[in-house]
Amino acid sequence: SAIAEGVTRSIEGVTDSVTGVFTDPVIRLGVTGLSRAGKTVFITSLVANLMDRGRMPGLQAAARGAIKAAYLQPQPDDTVPRFDFETHLEDMTGATPEWPDSTRAVSELRLSMKVQPGGLLGGLSGPRTVHLDIVDYPGEWLLDLGLLEKSYAEWSAEALDRLPGRPGGAEYLALLGQEDAAARLDEPVAQRLAKSFTAHLNASREAGFSDCSPGRFLLPGDLAGSPALTFAPMAQVADAGRGSLYREMDRRFEAYKRRVVKPFFRDHFSRIDRQVVLVDVLGAIHAGPQALEDLRRAMADILGAFRPGRNAWLTSLFVGRRVEKILFAATKADHLHHRQHPALTAITEALLREARDRADFAGAQTQAMSLAALRATVEETRRHEGQDLDMVRGTLLGTGKAAALYPGDLPEEPARLLSPAREGAQQWLDGDYNVMKFRPAALTLTPGEGPPHIRLDRAAEFLFGDKLR
Ligand code: GDP
Repeated sequence: SAIAEGVTRSIEGVTDSVTGVFTDPVIRLGVTGLSRAGKTVFITSLVANLMDRGRMPGLQAAARGAIKAAYLQPQPDDTVPRFDFETHLEDMTGATPEWPDSTRAVSELRLSMKVQPGGLLGGLSGPRTVHLDIVDYPGEWLLDLGLLEKSYAEWSAEALDRLPGRPGGAEYLALLGQEDAAARLDEPVAQRLAKSFTAHLNASREAGFSDCSPGRFLLPGDLAGSPALTFAPMAQVADAGRGSLYREMDRRFEAYKRRVVKPFFRDHFSRIDRQVVLVDVLGAIHAGPQALEDLRRAMADILGAFRPGRNAWLTSLFVGRRVEKILFAATKADHLHHRQHPALTAITEALLREARDRADFAGAQTQAMSLAALRATVEETRRHEGQDLDMVRGTLLGTGKAAALYPGDLPEEPARLLSPAREGAQQWLDGDYNVMKFRPAALTLTPGEGPPHIRLDRAAEFLFGDKLR
């Protein structure tokens, strides 16, 4: 059926193979990134800016006035939750703007655009309809791809190896030390272990670690409390018989792979045409070298999912098709004055080099950029101790007071920054970054102050501009 699907999809926009009826082109745009990377804000702002045309000069179709209309339509997949665009937009643009609730699971939204074709022949035909199906899903779920190749014993060995030194790790190991893996399964014991392991993953995430798989342990959705999520790593034991704690953990790990991980890749991931991977690079830089290195590794793992051949099962889902473009975007760039943006983009590129080389190898076109889906600040340069300081001004979340702040310096040499020889105790962004919790700005930026986003239009141009020509 994967083959049949590939064939049907490749001729979409021409005629439907079964009905013979002309169908409109469809772009399936995947939006992912680790939790709090900015997915919800990105999608809400992208859709709002496309519907409210004129704020997207970097999107060629918008600049030449070719997008005649943009409107929401029922999505094609009836069983996938709809992205809650209206509620999120209301949060962000209400009387006291707030940040919306973040992504917890997969969701979808169809934005349809009426586009006047350009070029020599364009004027001869009327506008055509292009559907943009946006699929929002947690980047944590992509990390689970690595689990498919591992047995429970292999995964356990790696997970146990990572535990010491991470938040909650010692607690889990202490708890594990009290249990006999060969003993008969006692459900409360399995639950205690899973709970402690999950607490460790959540605490690690809080502390800035990126690789906190299995992904559903952090964002369980409606699987919370189910046996497929009630397992944890245990050292292998030779004498674990049927019905033992170890054997049951092993069985549940396999169930997680089969019933949770595979369906996601089959039903959602394998159908994506274009992908944006949002990365909170600033957050990781601020958290320090260890967090940045961990983010680099997690990104390499995440993007491994886009490399055909890495996993035979996944490759079989992609027969006849591939992800054509991948954008890596450092989010929340409005924390920085635009003079610091090139440095942020260079760091993002360095961070993703390894992962990006792999994806390039797969024939996908890739690009890195810095953006802010919703600008919460305006720029301000102030004289400070005889020097010009490039600051940003915004309204603070807590107090509601306006403040001009300087986040601090970015690491200087992106290439060396990620080398093993790097010093451990470096401090980056140690200016005001810590207190830069801005409220989303009300949409009052005047034309001189630029659009209410940073490079969202360029991101759109890269991701699907070619389909609107
Ligand atoms: P998700 O977990 O990937 O869906 O992340 P969200 O979209 O909910 O974003 C997480 C948080 O990052 C938000 O609550 C904001 O505080 C912040 N954020 C996201 N995008 C922007 C942006 O463009 N500018 C600023 N200043 N903050 C942002």
